Amino acid sequence: MFHASAASFASATPAPPPMMPPMKPWEYLRLRREAAGLSIDEVARRMSPKLATRSEAARLAELLETRGYRALHNKPILRLASAYPLDPSVYRQLADLPPEQHPAVCRGCGSSYWDTQRGAEHVLVSWTAPHTCTGCVAAQVGAA
Ligand SMILES: [Zn+2]
Repeated sequence: MFHASAASFASATPAPPPMMPPMKPWEYLRLRREAAGLSIDEVARRMSPKLATRSEAARLAELLETRGYRALHNKPILRLASAYPLDPSVYRQLADLPPEQHPAVCRGCGSSYWDTQRGAEHVLVSWTAPHTCTGCVAAQVGAA
């Protein structure tokens, strides 16, 4: 009679893929800003063309990217979205829902389902892995 030991069963079972920590809403905003190639000051300039309110805009943009900070309302997120492409509904889901209900977001550029592909004007994001879009893989290959 054959008895499998616990060790032989464990060695025959493939290891699950490594778990990624959940994407945080402040990380999403930073990834989208960096994918747009903008600094905080450039974002503030776009949010507030008037010099008098620009430093307030810079403080807001910086606050929204601060680790642990979650905007309770959409108004500041919509102001950021006027400066660079981001999806306010993705932000809300990352900020308000448990991780198992988060949308797929690329860890390289912050793209999500309805965004256009990095480096391509009219192509929606496609995925090579659960957390990486094809545009980021192409950028890594191009940079290598
Ligand atoms: Zn990407």
